[in-house]
Amino acid sequence: SAKAAGTGVRVFGNDVDRDDAPGRLSLVSQLGSAIEAGELTVHYQPITDVRRGMTDRLEALVRWEHPTLGRIGPSDFVPMAEQTDLIGPLTARVIDEALRDCAGWIRDGHDVGVAINVSARVLHDLRFPVVLADAARLAQLPPSAITLEITENSVLREPGRAARVLAELRALGVRVSVDDFGTGFSSLSSLRDLPLDELKIDRRFVGAILEDTDDEIIVRTVVALASQMGLSTVAEGAETSAIADRLLELGCDVLQGFHLARPMPALAVGEWLTNRPRVVVLDPAPVGLSP
Ligand code: C2E
Ligand code: MG
Ligand code: MG
Ligand code: MG
Repeated sequence: SAKAAGTGVRVFGNDVDRDDAPGRLSLVSQLGSAIEAGELTVHYQPITDVRRGMTDRLEALVRWEHPTLGRIGPSDFVPMAEQTDLIGPLTARVIDEALRDCAGWIRDGHDVGVAINVSARVLHDLRFPVVLADAARLAQLPPSAITLEITENSVLREPGRAARVLAELRALGVRVSVDDFGTGFSSLSSLRDLPLDELKIDRRFVGAILEDTDDEIIVRTVVALASQMGLSTVAEGAETSAIADRLLELGCDVLQGFHLARPMPALAVGEWLTNRPRVVVLDPAPVGLSP
């Protein structure tokens, strides 16, 4: 995800060979018109409470269906959108589509919500709560069906202002989750002062929990911290059944990852929710988290 000043470097140089730089440059210049032309689509990945066997919500993940380059993933254009004013229209586009899609699933009888990734600029926009409330009204979706995923770093620019925006969002009934938790620069005191509902453990800690005891300790500690603070936990990157089982043992019940489902186009979601696979829990007893 976007790491502020670092992203320009990553997009224009660094891991990209020099010959590719002009291509990247023209990609930036195409993004504005691509948003207007409707080339952005939203895919959805289920976030499932495995113990209850329920899909709680789906995360909206943007893709760019480029007319000549094919599908481009968000890591290749969201960071550069965040460096410009384009993140505003991009986010508005994702919100409109995601709220309408979610309202449709609920109308079809599914008890699900939607999670939306929100960047720093948007989080510091004092108009954002009203814009989101309007979008929800238009889509006929209760705001309580919406979770916003923010990163630790996204509140750092002006923490007071971001906290005010978050408080207004939560007053609407929106839930707030800290994405990529543990990879940013927030302090525990700034976390304590923010109105939050959930910590989302980044998949770089999850991927190796079976082999790496340090990562396992991190997951265990985040789960304990969240529970002490009255927050819930989600783990992303539950790629295999073995990882999912271990996460359950560590006290993390709500999972997202390729083992449960990959991101899918909106049209596939209804069928997936109807025929959602039964998740087999091998060891239903959580291990004790106390020392
Ligand atoms: P994120 O919010 O942390 O989203 C989770 C990413 O992990 C997604 O990548 C998802 O496809 C991937 N993932 C989920 N489960 C697994 C797994 O089991 N294994 C592996 N290897 N990967 C898994 P994606 O869709 O490429 O998105 C990358 C990032 O782009 C997101 O990370 C988020 O930071 C950003 N992003 C995506 N859509 C939006 C958007 O609409 N707005 C903003 N501001 N950022 C977005
Ligand atoms: Mg996310
Ligand atoms: Mg994440
Ligand atoms: Mg992540």
